[in-house]
Amino acid sequence: MNLPFAESYKMKMVETIRKSTKQERQEWIETANYNLFNLRSSQVFIDLLTDSGTGAMSDVQWSEMMLGDESYAGASSYYKMKDAIKEFFGFDYFLPTHQGRAAENVLFSVLVKENDIVPGNTHFDTTKGHIEFRKAKAVDCTIDEAFNSALEHPFKGNIDITKLEKVLNENPVERIPMIIVTVTCNSSGGQPVSLENMRQVRAVADKYGVPVIYDSARFAENAYFIKLREKGYAEKSIREIVSDMYALADAMTMSSKKDAIVNIGGFIAFRDKELQEKASVYNIMFEGYLTYGGMSGRDMNALAQGLREVVEFDYLETRIKQVAYLGNKLKEYGIPVLEPFGGHAVFIDAKKFLPQLPVEHYVAQTLAIELYIEAGVRGVEIGTLLADRDPETRQNRYPELELVRLAIPRRVYTNNHMDYIAAGLKNVFNRRHEITNGLKIVREAPILRHFTVDLERV
Ligand SMILES: *Cc1c(COP(=O)(O)O)cnc(C)c1O
Repeated sequence: MNLPFAESYKMKMVETIRKSTKQERQEWIETANYNLFNLRSSQVFIDLLTDSGTGAMSDVQWSEMMLGDESYAGASSYYKMKDAIKEFFGFDYFLPTHQGRAAENVLFSVLVKENDIVPGNTHFDTTKGHIEFRKAKAVDCTIDEAFNSALEHPFKGNIDITKLEKVLNENPVERIPMIIVTVTCNSSGGQPVSLENMRQVRAVADKYGVPVIYDSARFAENAYFIKLREKGYAEKSIREIVSDMYALADAMTMSSKKDAIVNIGGFIAFRDKELQEKASVYNIMFEGYLTYGGMSGRDMNALAQGLREVVEFDYLETRIKQVAYLGNKLKEYGIPVLEPFGGHAVFIDAKKFLPQLPVEHYVAQTLAIELYIEAGVRGVEIGTLLADRDPETRQNRYPELELVRLAIPRRVYTNNHMDYIAAGLKNVFNRRHEITNGLKIVREAPILRHFTVDLERV
């Protein structure tokens, strides 16, 4: 008999979670103005809002916490992080920041100015926010295949080289401060970018003399997909693939709350000393002194150790197989899901789930609310709310895909939880025809509105 797949870790500490009734959830979500961010975590049974900062640290990471060096300057924890970054990514210079968007804020303070154009593969919301905040423009150059949710393509995060060249051709190069490659591409479904594509981007960047920055929140998951799907990499280790990926980048920003399996943290790493020096000024202003940048020593230690654990194949296999387990279960039930499944989440195609609802009703948000009421499972909308308004016209931007993201925290839930989530969604699917009204906005912020928006039923 072939031995079945089993997790590559066991538990030694647990946290109690509590169920609630449907009636309680109906009241809670109304009080929360139909915004899942407004719920208390105690009102959620299984929390799939995000995989960011929600992972379970290992025993070794917790031991590293005890060894944290809290010296203001020159802490050993800083050097542990520096060594790990050099070892895995090959960058000599780095700046710690308190999380990923802080890394963007610091780096873009140096690089991005008004009227600039930043091409990339579907920029993450905070990335786009930091670009648009500076009155510059993020241009999405993702391949068209990424927007067809039923299409099987191994690297839906890839940049369309023709689209990219067009942007570089049609604009003066001084206005293009960088190309951003997001690995994996969060906003298009946690989809990976191939090494072949990274090489092509590098070639275009070199031709025009534009730096390439990797937005690296899920770099290890991207490497795992390269190993499994890209020709010529099956025999390479994750570490080797990561090193091949980053040999093609000039700098990176990282939200360590994802693939460094810590609860808070981030950094920028650079090949170029001069750029690091320019960014240092902003790091000191916004984040903290250069050798801690908004992180405590213990957090830097846990981060360095997290990077070591995340590039282990067994860890990645356990994680990504769990995501696929949930995806396959939903597919079995006939629920429209984005394929292939991403590294950190399963995405439900809300327009196909609720075809009767007009896009003005915030279809994905409506579905996410229904799932919460049904099962106490909190997912998140990746649709019109997140896409926000056009900064010039102030009109709603309607993205091609209305998605509900079920993000799986790292090393937190079991496959029984996955079964429960799938059953909850199946129940909503069975009564989908009864959902004839969506939601409308009653109050919203001028930027990144999805976090604080208030809604009510139409
Ligand atoms: C999470 C994330 C960020 C922002 O990082 P925070 O730590 O949440 O500030 C940036 N880019 C990508 C791709 C992300 O997934």
